[in-house]
Amino acid sequence: MEREKSFNFAAGPSVLPVPVLERAQKELLNYHGSGMSVMEMSHRSGVYQEIFDDAKFRLKALMQVPDSHEILFLQGGGTLQFAMVPMNLMGPNGKADYAVTGNFSGIAAKEAEKYGSVHIAADTASGGHRTIPAQSELSLSPDAAYFYYCSNNTIYGTEWQYVPETRAVPLVCDISSDILSRPVDVSRYGLIFAGAQKNMAPAGLTVAIIDKSLAGRALPITPKVMDYGVMIEKDSMLNTPPCWCIYMLGLNLAWVQEQGGVAEMERRKKERAGALYEFLDNSKLFRAHADKSARSDMNVTFRTDSEVLDAEFVRGASARGLLNVKGHRLTGGMRASVYNAMPMEGVAALIDYMKEFEVMHR
Ligand SMILES: *Cc1c(COP(=O)(O)O)cnc(C)c1O
Repeated sequence: MEREKSFNFAAGPSVLPVPVLERAQKELLNYHGSGMSVMEMSHRSGVYQEIFDDAKFRLKALMQVPDSHEILFLQGGGTLQFAMVPMNLMGPNGKADYAVTGNFSGIAAKEAEKYGSVHIAADTASGGHRTIPAQSELSLSPDAAYFYYCSNNTIYGTEWQYVPETRAVPLVCDISSDILSRPVDVSRYGLIFAGAQKNMAPAGLTVAIIDKSLAGRALPITPKVMDYGVMIEKDSMLNTPPCWCIYMLGLNLAWVQEQGGVAEMERRKKERAGALYEFLDNSKLFRAHADKSARSDMNVTFRTDSEVLDAEFVRGASARGLLNVKGHRLTGGMRASVYNAMPMEGVAALIDYMKEFEVMHR
């Protein structure tokens, strides 16, 4: 498969902008005359510190992170955050509210049970995770240490269309698969985190943005490297950070800025997802998985009524260079992940193929 003729719809790790990959290629052997690759540099060197500061500065600017909040570059993926969040924020004998709207929020709630008591504020499992609860459907505990939710459900293809109102209870959000795809009012959150491999950078980096007033209260058993307070104090350099991923993040953030920032990313994602849903709503063969009120602009999940046809569709897509459109095993069917780096041409090529497939199989 030639790179030029393929579009990668993988859910993560996923597509990165071609100019970002090209720039990394150009700088690979000798970064800015340093005589070294970024992969070979000491994280304590001046030249690397500039790369680190640049990435952090760009993220702060793009997401308009207020000074009350700190950006952390961590490891362990979204999954480690499922433990870090309760260990740092629950407090001794604490309790927290969890909205379970998909696979990852369910895993996070289970993980949190090890460290305190978990109250399920909403659970959409009985409806196959096709919906997002309305504000009035959330069962909120006024004494919760935090309210946890996942803004975009990567597997089921649903996305919260609003920010929950929880009064004095801090909001914690897993924003792994829709970070940088729209403006976010960071000041409303106690903590947001995102594994980089969905919409930002290669796998190996997790970005967390935390209200500094919530840090410093970790349970005594918390490993140092998992303590937000320690990581704030050490500016994410308690130990060796994921140097290469942070460099790649910086390149990608520069690309997002050049394209017009998160507002432009939001316009483009609506254009991509809008075209796909419009086709699905008018199709006699394919149908969308998510309820209309809860559709994700990042992961579009759909299927035919036949698993045999679904498998044939996925094979045919792959042969045409429309890669990784197979749905997650929990949902079956298909999933087109249309992150920031997916060009509209990729979406158009997928829709063309769906049209052809429909004509052949109706
Ligand atoms: C992929 C994903 C995760 C898990 O991330 P890892 O980096 O594999 O631990 C968590 N939450 C969401 C929303 C995801 O999409």
